Amino acid sequence: MSRPIAESDVLVVGAGIVGLAHACAALARGLTVTIIDRDARAVGASVRNFGHCCVTAQSGELLDLALVAREKWLKYSSLAGFFSTASGALALARSSTELAVLTELSESREPGQVELLSASDSRTLLRDGADATIVGGAMLRDDLRVDPREAVASIATWLAAQPGVTMLWQTSFFGAADGVAATSRGEIRAERTIVCVGHDLDYLYPDLAVSRAVERCALQMMRVEAPSGMVLRPAVLTGTSMLRYPAFAETGAAGALRDEVRANRADLLEIGANVMFTQRPNGTLIVGDSHRYATTMDPFQAEKTSRILLTEIARILGVDSVKVKERWQGIYASSPQQPFLIEEVAPGVTVAIVTSGVGMTISFGLAEKTLG
Ligand SMILES: Cc1cc2nc3c(=O)[nH]c(=O)nc-3n(C[C@H](O)[C@H](O)[C@H](O)COP(=O)(O)OP(=O)(O)OC[C@H]3O[C@@H](n4cnc5c(N)ncnc54)[C@H](O)[C@@H]3O)c2cc1C
Repeated sequence: MSRPIAESDVLVVGAGIVGLAHACAALARGLTVTIIDRDARAVGASVRNFGHCCVTAQSGELLDLALVAREKWLKYSSLAGFFSTASGALALARSSTELAVLTELSESREPGQVELLSASDSRTLLRDGADATIVGGAMLRDDLRVDPREAVASIATWLAAQPGVTMLWQTSFFGAADGVAATSRGEIRAERTIVCVGHDLDYLYPDLAVSRAVERCALQMMRVEAPSGMVLRPAVLTGTSMLRYPAFAETGAAGALRDEVRANRADLLEIGANVMFTQRPNGTLIVGDSHRYATTMDPFQAEKTSRILLTEIARILGVDSVKVKERWQGIYASSPQQPFLIEEVAPGVTVAIVTSGVGMTISFGLAEKTLG
């Protein structure tokens, strides 16, 4: 029998935010941890997103997980030394229907959690000259922001420096049984293996992916120059966001909003838009997004989709156009059946993935649930 390349209480597969959150949770329980990733650094969904921890607009168990995760984000931001801001999120209403959704949500929550804003306060928070059609808004108090590119790398670096942690990059996982994992670099011994491979679940466990209806969701994203002097602390959400995040979508007023968007902005519905943006610490804006679903994703990005998003963002900002600095496609695991998956696939081997667009929001809460 060959010598294992690593031995620990827990093996975490995948160094995206879900894997890193599970490694943090295991370490906090005094367990030794090996983390492996097939790449030389994380380049998956966790560095391609808005860095928006969309806490307030969750409901039910997702809200509970998000509130747990919120505390952990602040804790690890301080421990690992990366940017985070308890900025909240600004949800903009550009019609009375959108305002009705925000009002209903506000009335259902404790005072201050969803604070309604006047049109002028909403526009001032955004920028002077912002879209004149804004009729009001709401501040979603409990939302956070991090810079995804910095945060994920910083947590990985911090974890690698902790006693009891072994971090192995460029190490692919093939499978595990009886406390032994097979990888591209040799065997790893661990009492428990937690598999956090996100949208690539089907490469390892195709039957599980099929039975839980897990497929890929691709989003078109861009980084653009902000209008001169613009400083934007909160994440910004719009009407299409209200159709996606559960706390908005579950309001009685959301049905009328869906009809309104269908009647007036079929182009946004067609590309599965969630028009939103965040500002990175360097001042540029991360803007998006669109949604396409497939088991194997078509790699070609329609320029029309980007144009629709950029036009809409420019309109909200109240500028003629925005200058694009980068474009990319992000892919996350998605399922209409459940927003996340924790499943024992063999004795001591657990799959833990987020199967909706809220991995940054709930990962640290999910890890607490997986580890018990
Ligand atoms: C464009 C975009 C915007 C988003 N915006 C937000 C947002 O603002 N807020 C929010 O809450 N969520 C957002 N999400 C969702 C969120 O980013 C994801 O849910 C989350 O990042 C998933 O994390 P993960 O660790 O599972 O996946 P990933 O970050 O993709 O990590 C999976 C890792 O597993 C590794 N891996 C895969 N197979 C193997 C193997 N066999 N062996 C070893 N390693 C392997 C990969 O190399 C990768 O590093 C967004 C997603 C996208 C794509």
